Amino acid sequence: MNSDSNYIDIHTHSLKKSETIQVYNQPIEETFHANLCSVGIHPWHIDIANTKQQLEKLETLLESKKALAIGECGLDKLIDVPIQLQETIFKEQLRLAEKHKKTIIIHCVRAFDDLLRIRKEMKLTVPMIVHGFNNNKEIALQLLKSGCYFSFGKALLIKDSNASQVISIIPSDRLFLETDDADTTIENIYSAASNILNLETETLKKIISANFKNVFLHS
Ligand SMILES: [Zn+2]
Repeated sequence: MNSDSNYIDIHTHSLKKSETIQVYNQPIEETFHANLCSVGIHPWHIDIANTKQQLEKLETLLESKKALAIGECGLDKLIDVPIQLQETIFKEQLRLAEKHKKTIIIHCVRAFDDLLRIRKEMKLTVPMIVHGFNNNKEIALQLLKSGCYFSFGKALLIKDSNASQVISIIPSDRLFLETDDADTTIENIYSAASNILNLETETLKKIISANFKNVFLHS
């Protein structure tokens, strides 16, 4: 697994062609059907009456070697779930990530200050990847300074998006690519990133492959 010539999709909600290395985003209610996955409680899917059970289920799933990461999890200020509860559930997942030495895949909407505060307060040591990054340069620089990794997806297909503008300032050892829930292929995302970064696709594959080994296969 994980030869330098593979495309690597670090966050997808649907499994595609088998020659691509995919980290499938698995909801905790599902049993394993992907070779590699992340498991987590998305803020949208917090079940207010059953958070204890949800967290217990998550910890059981983390015992599998297939579970490379916890996520997507995080904070979302555009939904009705109270932000305090979101923060509590997020922190519990961060504790599990530290305990089981798992990478964290972050969903963050309008809550980057909180994310940075929590990361600092908890003195996290496990890698944290902000997925679907499509925010401005100031936020990118703050996340970089705090040691975060970035994953870019469909926003790279739009010429003037924040993602397309910001990807060039991300050091190559902090970079990942993903399809998420988009109706596109990881090949298209690599192609868009190659064009913006002025890199051969083969070079980009080697870069992402090295990052994947460092960040996901570290234990
Ligand atoms: Zn997603």
